[in-house]
Amino acid sequence: MSPVGHTAVGLVGWQWFSEKKNLKTLAFFIIIANLPDIDFTLFLFLGKKGLEMHQYFTHNVFFVGLTALLLWPWLKKKRERFGIVIAAFSHLLLDFLTIDAKAPFGFRLFYPFSDQLFNFGILPNLWKENLSDVFSLHNFWVICFETASFLVPVLLIYKKTFNGYLNQKEFWKQ
Ligand SMILES: [Zn+2]
Repeated sequence: MSPVGHTAVGLVGWQWFSEKKNLKTLAFFIIIANLPDIDFTLFLFLGKKGLEMHQYFTHNVFFVGLTALLLWPWLKKKRERFGIVIAAFSHLLLDFLTIDAKAPFGFRLFYPFSDQLFNFGILPNLWKENLSDVFSLHNFWVICFETASFLVPVLLIYKKTFNGYLNQKEFWKQ
């Protein structure tokens, strides 16, 4: 799944679980919902080999659980801490439900302890084998699909609520 879908789910997590509605907690929920895809940056250093390593080291319960726990010191409320864990694991669930068109199919949910792959692809996937894939028309449509089916509904449902937060001074304070 692309950052659009993950961000939409991160927003819902923030709305449901965050007690302090400010820029900091919003950033935490959005970042943690997207964080496992940080492995895309390997492409910058390793080129095509980096793309092949996507979903290898960061798409497992240990990476996701640990990175969520690292944010706990900044989240004092139990509800927020629970929510950040849920937002983190939402990444794995959404990727699990996204079609994987290239072997090895799925990701190693319990890496490094098991190499078993998990995938139940029903949602359209991004192409990412090379740069022309990344900027393909196919990927444009996938982003449109995720925007229409995830992000726009979330923004419409919470339009008034989100607007309310943005207009409060507390939102912009640390
Ligand atoms: Zn991912």
